[in-house]
Amino acid sequence: MTQPLLELHDVSVSFDGFYALTDLSLTLNKGELKSIIGPNGAGKTTFLDVITGKVRPTKGTVTFRGKSLVGLSEQRISREGIGRKFQTPRVFENLTVLRNLELAVSPHKSAFNLLIDKLPTSAKDEVQRLMHYVGLAPFATTRAGSLSHGQKQWLAIATLVAQAPEVLLLDEPVAGLTDEETVRTAELIKSLAGDHTVVVIEHDMEFIRDLNAPVTVLHQGQLLTEGPLEQVKADPRVIEVYLGQSDD
Ligand code: ADP
Ligand code: MG
Repeated sequence: MTQPLLELHDVSVSFDGFYALTDLSLTLNKGELKSIIGPNGAGKTTFLDVITGKVRPTKGTVTFRGKSLVGLSEQRISREGIGRKFQTPRVFENLTVLRNLELAVSPHKSAFNLLIDKLPTSAKDEVQRLMHYVGLAPFATTRAGSLSHGQKQWLAIATLVAQAPEVLLLDEPVAGLTDEETVRTAELIKSLAGDHTVVVIEHDMEFIRDLNAPVTVLHQGQLLTEGPLEQVKADPRVIEVYLGQSDD
């Protein structure tokens, strides 16, 4: 078998003795789309924090293309090809959609106004491609702050893709979105898999069903089960964990 692209082995994270993750082992293969679900506090965001270098594991290994990521800075891990969209999309609210994307494709993030004017044609083409890809071309000159929740999420995803990461980690991409925006977001994410390896963290079960990807369930920092959604949903342990939750 080929080596997994990204691998967590026996990872634990303790915050002053409280274990946000306990002995978590999980692999991601190249081009794969994987959904991660679990109730609030399950450790989903911490799982991303460990991969992206925001939090250092107390124990265990995290490897990307066979090399350890533990101890590397967030910037370095991002440069290695792991991109992340935070729960709250980080876009420059005061800049237009176009400027946000120009900045994202620009290799020099400082003094960008000056540098953007010198963006090579290939980068400008990429900005146009991304803007059409996420359906924001009609909003090129709109300030990001005036976009709907869904449009902001799509802009955040587009700025992430602009940096050409091999792995995309998406934390709650449909929180606060309308049903229609949620369906469009699922289509968008599915179209990114293959070219990218994608991890999606979500609560929304309808959305998880639309993604049609293998599901991993986290609970109290541990991997509860993995498998197709229907199998996972029928698992009595999963049902118990979700009892009393209004998500589904
Ligand atoms: P989820 O994203 O699944 O809702 P989190 O990964 O955000 O869960 O959190 C898992 C648990 O770890 C929660 O109980 C949370 O309060 C705790 N936690 C997360 N980050 C920290 C931190 N920096 N310090 C202390 N506790 C934390
Ligand atoms: Mg979270």
